[in-house]
Amino acid sequence: MVVVDQAPVREVMDKPSSQSEFEIIRRFLATPNLSFLRDGIELGIGDDAALIEVPPNKYLAMSMDVLISGIHFPLDADPSLLANRALAVNLSDLAAMGAEPFCFTLGLVLPHSDEKWLAGFSNGLEYLARQYNCPLVGGDTSRGPLSISIQVQGLVEKNRATRRSGANVGDKIYVSGTLGDGAIALLTLGLDSHLGSEFALTVSEPNATCLQFFEDAYFKPHPQIELALTAGKLFSSCIDISDGLQGDLQHILDESEVAGSIRLGAIPYSKSALCSVSPENRLLAALFGGDDYELCFTVAKKDCEELESIAKELGVSVTCIGDINLGEGIDYLDADGSPVEVTAQAFQHFSGCR
Ligand code: ADP
Ligand code: MG
Repeated sequence: MVVVDQAPVREVMDKPSSQSEFEIIRRFLATPNLSFLRDGIELGIGDDAALIEVPPNKYLAMSMDVLISGIHFPLDADPSLLANRALAVNLSDLAAMGAEPFCFTLGLVLPHSDEKWLAGFSNGLEYLARQYNCPLVGGDTSRGPLSISIQVQGLVEKNRATRRSGANVGDKIYVSGTLGDGAIALLTLGLDSHLGSEFALTVSEPNATCLQFFEDAYFKPHPQIELALTAGKLFSSCIDISDGLQGDLQHILDESEVAGSIRLGAIPYSKSALCSVSPENRLLAALFGGDDYELCFTVAKKDCEELESIAKELGVSVTCIGDINLGEGIDYLDADGSPVEVTAQAFQHFSGCR
């Protein structure tokens, strides 16, 4: 996750009065649209703990993300978009494990009780909660500098979890969607990027469609749950791209003890990325940017045709960008298949590049 370069406000935390905490929970969190019951949820918000039932043949997959104002998002961010993003990035982790969303908990730290903000926040959570049948079942509310911690719980059949460690020599490397949009969005949203001062838009004012596209890419990332649940049985390994392809693919390679080669020309970009930044900056955004929340996964050669037909049926774009090989590390290849030097060092003129 990209970090907004501002110092956090440090305050002594105290609890809101129990009355206002209770009111916040009742009016904005324990609502029928957010805290609904579903199969397996015996008891949600309202007791000392939620009670959930995990089917015996499944694992409970759990993942958590903490978003702190002034660090991970600007203080004045739209609460509804923020809520959407906070839940979406968690759901993306479930997708990467091949897990079906089940429920989530929320740790909410608020500087004060702002009804309008809370109504927007609650609304923003409802949309994805309903879409993925993933209700809010509990949490904690406290006073302090604004921060949002979400923990999602998912269910995955025991032999279906798509771990980082399963890639095999000869497998193909795929990504879903397009890469680099999350990093480019920081530029269009006027937020700091760790990619340095030369990472900039080529057009001073991208058109309105482009601007909307990038705002959506940042605040409404689409967790690739459907793809993971339908085609995940064909993935030998999987990770979601939250820190940039280079770093995230490297996790698969390390855990699987293999090497990877990537054809630079095969990396998929959005139309908006193509018309907003230079080819060098597109590559920089895709490899080192982050915040894309697409999946990078490996598939045995024999399964590639089936994978591509499932993805086509779902209307989800998947692109084969390379191969898993013997050895370690990532080789980048140009259009002729010759190796190209693409390391963080090769981008040294971009200060602060990972
Ligand atoms: P306790 O004092 O037993 O921890 P709380 O008074 O903090 O309980 O919370 C009361 C109920 O409201 C609990 O069921 C808790 O899970 C739920 N709750 C509190 N804060 C949140 C939140 N931010 N989101 C969802 N549920 C919450
Ligand atoms: Mg509590």
